[in-house]
Amino acid sequence: MPSRSIVERLAAGDILVMDGGTGSELQKRGVDVYKGATVERRPMGPEEYGTTTGHGVWSATANLEAPDVVRQIHEDYLRAGADIIISNNFYTCRAMLQMIGEEDRWEEYARRAAELALQARDSVNPEAYVAGGFAPPFSSYSGDLKQEFEDMARLLAECGVDFLLPEYLGGNTVCESPIADCVTAVEVCAATGLPVFLGVCCVTDKGTMYFGESFRELADALAGCDLAGILLMCSYPNEISACLPELRKAYSGPIGAYGHIGYDDNPKFGSSPDEPYFSINTGEYTPERYAEIASDWKKMGAQIIGGCCATAPEHIAALPAAVGR
Ligand SMILES: [Zn+2]
Repeated sequence: MPSRSIVERLAAGDILVMDGGTGSELQKRGVDVYKGATVERRPMGPEEYGTTTGHGVWSATANLEAPDVVRQIHEDYLRAGADIIISNNFYTCRAMLQMIGEEDRWEEYARRAAELALQARDSVNPEAYVAGGFAPPFSSYSGDLKQEFEDMARLLAECGVDFLLPEYLGGNTVCESPIADCVTAVEVCAATGLPVFLGVCCVTDKGTMYFGESFRELADALAGCDLAGILLMCSYPNEISACLPELRKAYSGPIGAYGHIGYDDNPKFGSSPDEPYFSINTGEYTPERYAEIASDWKKMGAQIIGGCCATAPEHIAALPAAVGR
């Protein structure tokens, strides 16, 4: 367990490196991350973006089926220099596990994910932080989002994560509106007493949130919340670069970013069982290039910098030197 809280370190001006993609790394290491995906639900165009369940329960099942691989990925990121790892809880909620008929076992999946991250941390770098990171169910979900968040936040807090990271929010409407869903998530997480960071996804190269809301609107809505920081995530580096200055102007707390780098819809998805929903194509984003961009993010005020989908331990290894940690 770290000797200083993350809030204290950020207040002191520290720069912290976060891990990279977990689901994409599991996929690369041969773990099936698509249980529950259906061809019929494949997104046909941008208008359906955010409503698909084409990726199934994503990497949730790996926590029980390939725990050693999950732990190994966490360890690889820590050895690469990550100060923060995110538990593999992205879709371990009841609502998503329902897609494979495993909703009654959600606590088992979720608890195992937290344990694997904590074990990796304790064995490689006890001063690193474990973020309990989880996403909302996909947009078609009609159940009680607040309850899903409450249950997950409580369980992760019980497991001993260092802070909570409700993520993949702001780019979709699960219940009320993208911003209202962010507020709900932050409030519910803050009730555990742990620091809460919000991960806002799908930001745009116009400097706005996915549906055009400004970061000022987001910051105003979150003004009454007990929030430790806002991170932009799961967006392309150029989109994050367009938005970080806007976020900086609108919000005075700690900010950060973890971008994705080429995780594309696979046009052959569903044509055979071996064709996954996403294909990894990192293109121009070599570890060196990603690190250069990360150093720009630091200049824009980012204090937490990592990677999302398709970033790998090599990308994270290039960050500490680039961001002067
Ligand atoms: Zn991502």
